[in-house]
Amino acid sequence: MRSNVLLALACVLFAGCSKAPVEAPKEEKAKPIEPKVDALRLYVLDCGHIDIADLSIFDRGGAYDGRADKFVDTCYLARHPKGDLLWDAGLPDAIHDAPDGVREAPFTLKVPKTLKGQLERIGVPPEAIEYFSISHSHFDHLGNGNLFKDSTFIVNAKELAHMFRDEARKDAQTFANYADLEAAKKSTFTDSYDVFGDGAVIIVSMPGHTPGHSVLLINLEHSGPVLLSGDLYHLAEARERRTVPSFNSDAGETLASMTKFEELAKASGARVIIQHEDADFENLPRAPAYLD
Ligand SMILES: [Zn+2]
Repeated sequence: MRSNVLLALACVLFAGCSKAPVEAPKEEKAKPIEPKVDALRLYVLDCGHIDIADLSIFDRGGAYDGRADKFVDTCYLARHPKGDLLWDAGLPDAIHDAPDGVREAPFTLKVPKTLKGQLERIGVPPEAIEYFSISHSHFDHLGNGNLFKDSTFIVNAKELAHMFRDEARKDAQTFANYADLEAAKKSTFTDSYDVFGDGAVIIVSMPGHTPGHSVLLINLEHSGPVLLSGDLYHLAEARERRTVPSFNSDAGETLASMTKFEELAKASGARVIIQHEDADFENLPRAPAYLD
């Protein structure tokens, strides 16, 4: 998703709108902090919805011209006996205060449930999460980045440089959503990172969409391996057609990463989840239910 943010979001974030505020739907109460788990779990979180009036930017060759679509924006909590990892931080929770969403052509962004509220309902509030990582640093994956300033930020070294480069800082509104991560404790990697040291949760570099774009492989005992795509693919059709968005750092790298991803999916036998694909989301249990 493109990194340019969203003038309309200023209305929500800085209360500059002329309309009277609309009361947001109430969220369920937080649970007391949960103790550590004794086996790996994967929670799927609803981190927003993106209605797209014109899908054309999702293929540089025009494969989707003239079409509209709806994307889900997902985040994932991996609970491991040695700690908790949040993968991606979705659209900003502040959009929740605008029930009709925030429009920035060609997108309309909606956040029916806040990430913070969903984590609290599981009993793992943001401040209790030891590790935070991202597929990449676009606005729809780092909208709540600041919530994890006290976690260890596990990040591809090239993505870290990309998200704190001068040009990124000039996109003030997007940057403000994750600026606090600059001072966070960090663990950087180049090729892959075994989060808990036992092969259960592995971040793998798949660059191209951004310079340090990465995917996540989770080896669950009962559900089997699950491979989260990041935005290597934005929709199921992109996987079939190997389409490359027009907003993309390096098309050659992206195509090479697609080959690497398919080899990893085959070798691991993993269930592939395309993070923005509604059909994949529909087939997953929703937090507080989980895969294990
Ligand atoms: Zn995205």
